[in-house]
Amino acid sequence: MSWFIRKEKNIQTPTEQKKEVPDGLWHKCGHCKQVMLAADLKANAYTCLHCGFHERIGSKEYFELLFDDGQFTELNPHLESADPLNFIDSKPYPQRIKEAQAKTGLKDAVRTAYGKMNGIDLVIACMDFSFIGGSMGSVVGEKVARAIDFAREKRYPLLIISRSGGARMMEAGFSLMQMAKTSAKLALLDEAGVPYISLLTDPTTGGVTASFAMLGDFNIAEPQALIGFAGPRVIRETIGKDLPKGFQSAEFVLEHGFLDFIVDRKELKDELTALLKMIWVN
Ligand SMILES: [Zn+2]
Repeated sequence: MSWFIRKEKNIQTPTEQKKEVPDGLWHKCGHCKQVMLAADLKANAYTCLHCGFHERIGSKEYFELLFDDGQFTELNPHLESADPLNFIDSKPYPQRIKEAQAKTGLKDAVRTAYGKMNGIDLVIACMDFSFIGGSMGSVVGEKVARAIDFAREKRYPLLIISRSGGARMMEAGFSLMQMAKTSAKLALLDEAGVPYISLLTDPTTGGVTASFAMLGDFNIAEPQALIGFAGPRVIRETIGKDLPKGFQSAEFVLEHGFLDFIVDRKELKDELTALLKMIWVN
């Protein structure tokens, strides 16, 4: 009966050999592991029907969710990264960019656009984590800066949706300069009296947290989003202490005064509209 008895413990199938359900039909929640129809997930603003977990989505989905009838005009859609440092890690940087572009269908880790949200003119810059971890290099910084300029010139309120691992190491100092550039542009927007709302999603870390993501007139977040500068492991090793429970979750950050409120993605469009009606539109 040896064929009947499991000789080795646990399941031994490597991840790459696992049989996946075809994409686009069923979805398994990344948190509670319950299964639901992908169409139902989409209809629920990409949040789990069972536990409310917010799946990571990108600019395509946010633009669809927020702009009326999914209609918008993209700004600077063709900006692409150069290779200022001739950087090579496991592969040359230009090759990494090409591969990321082929995999995601995106040019870089942010898309910027304007359109109407419940009839209100709005500029949105939305980061895409699927593109090299949503890292900020020259292109992200430049597109965000130009979107801020556009918002200031047109006097349209600005929403930046952040989801980022931080600065892009392959552009080193050029990436860090984007923090100063975007912050300076936001100061001009502030002087012009045009509102800026920053939405922090899971995860928002590093140079993005340390620049535009925390500079909103309102800094808001999605539930349970990881928000921080350095990762918990780095902090733990630096201070040599265990960190409090829930450290760097949106709820923890809210409680410590760094956020204005947390918004469920299903309510996002209505909450943003209500907020803008209070502070901007008569
Ligand atoms: Zn769930």
